[in-house]
Amino acid sequence: MRKRLVIGNWKLHGSLSENAQLVQDLITDLKVLSSENQPQVAICPPFVYLSSLAQLLESTPLSLGAQDAFEQEKGAFTGEVSASMLAEFNVKYVLVGHSERRTLFGDTDQRVAAKFEAVKKQGLIPVLCIGETLQQRESNQTQDVIIAQLQSVVDVVGAEALATSVIAYEPIWAIGTGKTATTQQAQQVHALIRNWLTERVGEKALTTQILYGGSVKPDNAAELFTQPDIDGGLIGGASLEAESFLAICYS
Ligand code: PEP
Repeated sequence: MRKRLVIGNWKLHGSLSENAQLVQDLITDLKVLSSENQPQVAICPPFVYLSSLAQLLESTPLSLGAQDAFEQEKGAFTGEVSASMLAEFNVKYVLVGHSERRTLFGDTDQRVAAKFEAVKKQGLIPVLCIGETLQQRESNQTQDVIIAQLQSVVDVVGAEALATSVIAYEPIWAIGTGKTATTQQAQQVHALIRNWLTERVGEKALTTQILYGGSVKPDNAAELFTQPDIDGGLIGGASLEAESFLAICYS
């Protein structure tokens, strides 16, 4: 019922020439698969590359995403980019609340919820990133942290808006560290998220794509993706190379 979705988060990587090569390699491979087996695949490059990539990706199976969006549409907010601006570049997905935004740039739950709302308002698909720190996991706070992060978005946009978006569970201790949550640890949190949503929107929660992120590689993707509530992945490091990203997409 739910299609697999794999999103590459390029973070602060890329150049015009590297992007052209990587995207060419991805498109060539994605095109040879029948649409029936085709996972949904997207890449989130840095903002400055959206314009050129929007052209390269036109009429291809590869979708474009952005790594963030500011909550205001216009104004004196130096350095920011709004969701309405992203909408002009064929952007489909927008990450909100990535842990690097939360920890390095001070995005609070409130700001994440406002960003989520702004993205949704433009008809784009927010990818809400949530996850606990190692210390929170070790002190048995994972469930409370996850629910608080979901609740702060639902307080602003409502549960239906969240259920019709994408959620990425990314334990902070697993991002870029080479440590992956075990399939059981990941599935447990994914099931918690889906059950929590089901209590609020009923069967609609069965259609919500919930991605796992945190050091996903070709050698651990298949096992993670076989879990009943894991619908794909948000991939950082391994999305910068066509071979590893495609291997994950087709795991
Ligand atoms: C991420 O950036 O969301 C991520 C999961 O990174 P990595 O795959 O490198 O851990």
